[in-house]
Amino acid sequence: MTFLNKIIDAFFPPRCLICKRIVKCDYIFCDHCSTRVKQIVNKEQINFKYGKQYFDKCVAGFYYQEPMSNIVCNFKFKKNWNKTRVLARILEKIITLNYEEYAIDIITFVPETDKNKKHALLLARELARQLNKKYKPLLKKICNNKTQHNLSRQERLDNIKGVYMLEENIDVHGKNIILIDDIVTTGSTLNECAKVFKLAGANAVFCAAICATKID
Ligand SMILES: [Zn+2]
Repeated sequence: MTFLNKIIDAFFPPRCLICKRIVKCDYIFCDHCSTRVKQIVNKEQINFKYGKQYFDKCVAGFYYQEPMSNIVCNFKFKKNWNKTRVLARILEKIITLNYEEYAIDIITFVPETDKNKKHALLLARELARQLNKKYKPLLKKICNNKTQHNLSRQERLDNIKGVYMLEENIDVHGKNIILIDDIVTTGSTLNECAKVFKLAGANAVFCAAICATKID
């Protein structure tokens, strides 16, 4: 945690993500609520099982179930942006735990075609501020595919192919990139984005999401 973040916490004390009680500096939940969330074991990785894996590693903080699923949905669909700081702090913790040994060049996010859907952008930008790393939008979504969450595993894989490309004048050659999304399911979206980076010469793509779910 940076000095600046400690000062921000002193003036705006962090509150429990679930019940909103004031919690200790750097805490996400109060003691009571921490027993209600199903945290993913510290260094458990999510692998892409349906073809070539382009990302180097993928981790998430929690299983996608109540109460975290409700919190992430409210953030994403009801634009509950006041949760950005605390949700980014979840990412900060899992990234520090899993990726601390790597020199990270850029933090970016999985984009949407609809620019009003900016949940992943806000998380990546706030995370970069908390980690004192460079934030940059690197990708654009070039066609509007169906939303992934109602599709089967095979439909998800087909639905996502070729929908992302690099923004203009972006050079990721030799870079170590952290790629942020809110929820990871099959990993097909993150893998497709990682593929774009790897084909453009990126050295490593490390993914992190707030929650992980499985559709199998
Ligand atoms: Zn609480």
